[in-house]
Amino acid sequence: MSKKIKIVVLGGGTAGWMSAAALAGVATDKVCEVVLIESEEIGTVGVGEATIPAIREFNDRLGIPEPEMMRKTHATFKLGIEFVDWGERGTSYIHPFGTYGKTIAGTDFHQHWLRLARAHQVPPLEAFSFAVNACRAGKFDFPAENKTAIDAAYSYAYHFDAGLYARYLRDFSERKGVKRLEGKVVQVQTSPDSGHVHSLLLESGEKVSGDYFIDCSGFRSLLLGETLGVAFESWKHWLACDSAVAVASERGAFFPPCTRATAKGAGWQWRIPLQHRTGNGYVYSSDIISNDEATVSLLSGLDEPAITEPRTLRFEAGKRACAWDKNCIAIGLSGGFLEPLESTSIYLIQIAIINFLKLMPGKVADPRVIREYNRLIDLEYERVRDFLILHYHLNRRDDSVLWRYCQRMAVPDSLREKIELFGRRGYIEQYRHGLFAPPSWLGVYMGQGLMPENVEPLVGVVTEERVRDELSSLKTAIDRKVAQMQDHEAFIAGYCPAG
Ligand code: FAD
Repeated sequence: MSKKIKIVVLGGGTAGWMSAAALAGVATDKVCEVVLIESEEIGTVGVGEATIPAIREFNDRLGIPEPEMMRKTHATFKLGIEFVDWGERGTSYIHPFGTYGKTIAGTDFHQHWLRLARAHQVPPLEAFSFAVNACRAGKFDFPAENKTAIDAAYSYAYHFDAGLYARYLRDFSERKGVKRLEGKVVQVQTSPDSGHVHSLLLESGEKVSGDYFIDCSGFRSLLLGETLGVAFESWKHWLACDSAVAVASERGAFFPPCTRATAKGAGWQWRIPLQHRTGNGYVYSSDIISNDEATVSLLSGLDEPAITEPRTLRFEAGKRACAWDKNCIAIGLSGGFLEPLESTSIYLIQIAIINFLKLMPGKVADPRVIREYNRLIDLEYERVRDFLILHYHLNRRDDSVLWRYCQRMAVPDSLREKIELFGRRGYIEQYRHGLFAPPSWLGVYMGQGLMPENVEPLVGVVTEERVRDELSSLKTAIDRKVAQMQDHEAFIAGYCPAG
């Protein structure tokens, strides 16, 4: 009997092709045989254009050349997300992929900044973030290789056409030996003894069996949810938005290296600049406005004329009670969904497949491996969930029931403690793995106006005068470097113009 494990991936959206590409590219055909089934008739969800820097690790691990991938997916660079009107209306802040300043005498930069800001006029914290300054100026360059340089203190991700990215990964996977089957799965056969998925029956009559089944069937969750009956845990009471309407518009004249998320009465609107067009969508609560009202609001809030018909999608925030049950692992929308405010879904796909590779089972999985996998995935989901809730909870708007509800709602204990710790003395919890790093939390806390009552006592080891000098020379150095950078648009034209 062959020692190779046979893995069947159901679904050819971003999750399906990322899973197949990683299995074929990392585990290779020495360890597993991969078959992917997709149905063009059913299609994919067709949204998901913004990413976070972790995607670069995924692509690098597979040996994907960046300029080629960017050319083929019409990608642009992303240094962060601009949040407009999330604190008070009329305000804007950027959550950057990078740090604020540098530690002074071993204590976090923001603690020193807070100490001065409480008593004096100082530039806002974001003036000391390289990535924020580059975003606001519409500039881009790669981080410096010298890790101590001021222009090394940031990272970057991409905006891309997710359909083209899946297509790119499909070509990659097929070159690495993944077998693709086109067709609709009409029946899932399970073993009467173990309850494991045994095979998938296609409309054509073909039967596909395997050792493991990766369920990338989208919101329907055909294998883990429908067949194995793993329940969906709803987080709608914390993340109330349950719908989105998406539309593409013409390419914009302003081409910033960041996503924009503008808070609105019933949710928020995204703007994602790609090389050839702009992606837009309104994520909203259907308890507050109808699909038609959301569509009118989206279209009237566009910077550029629409070039496609608006498309409405329904979803619910939450996840399956476990991501891996028996011999079935749900990756992507079939395993859970957290709204795209921080562009985390593709990351959750990536981390799911990387954890699977780390815990790669033999033909039969050890139950401890399954438990560990589920623990890791739960942790990732809960951290992303808490970070998303933070944006809603700290809003200072009073123009709709949604925002008032979010201000008052009871948040998970894990988040409540984080907010309290920051509110007391600006402390931000650190963890070694997973999203999000302290600068991300800091960006949102401060961006939405949560000013700590106190600072860490250790800031007292340096004089205020020294801190003022450090702030001033840092700001001068950032401003000078950013002024020397190329415009984002010109950078792309030289590096990876879409063919
Ligand atoms: P799908 O794209 O739905 O693919 C499902 C696949 O399963 C398809 O190929 C389908 O044909 C196949 N299939 C289903 N049933 C059968 C069957 N019976 N037989 C055969 N094949 C079948 N993520 C981000 O990271 N960044 C973003 O900016 C972002 N924005 C988003 C905005 C919105 C409004 C939404 C809803 C999601 C967004 N996402 C974003 C999430 C992102 O779109 C998804 O995580 C990603 O596309 C993965 O989808 P998927 O592959 O799991 O499912």
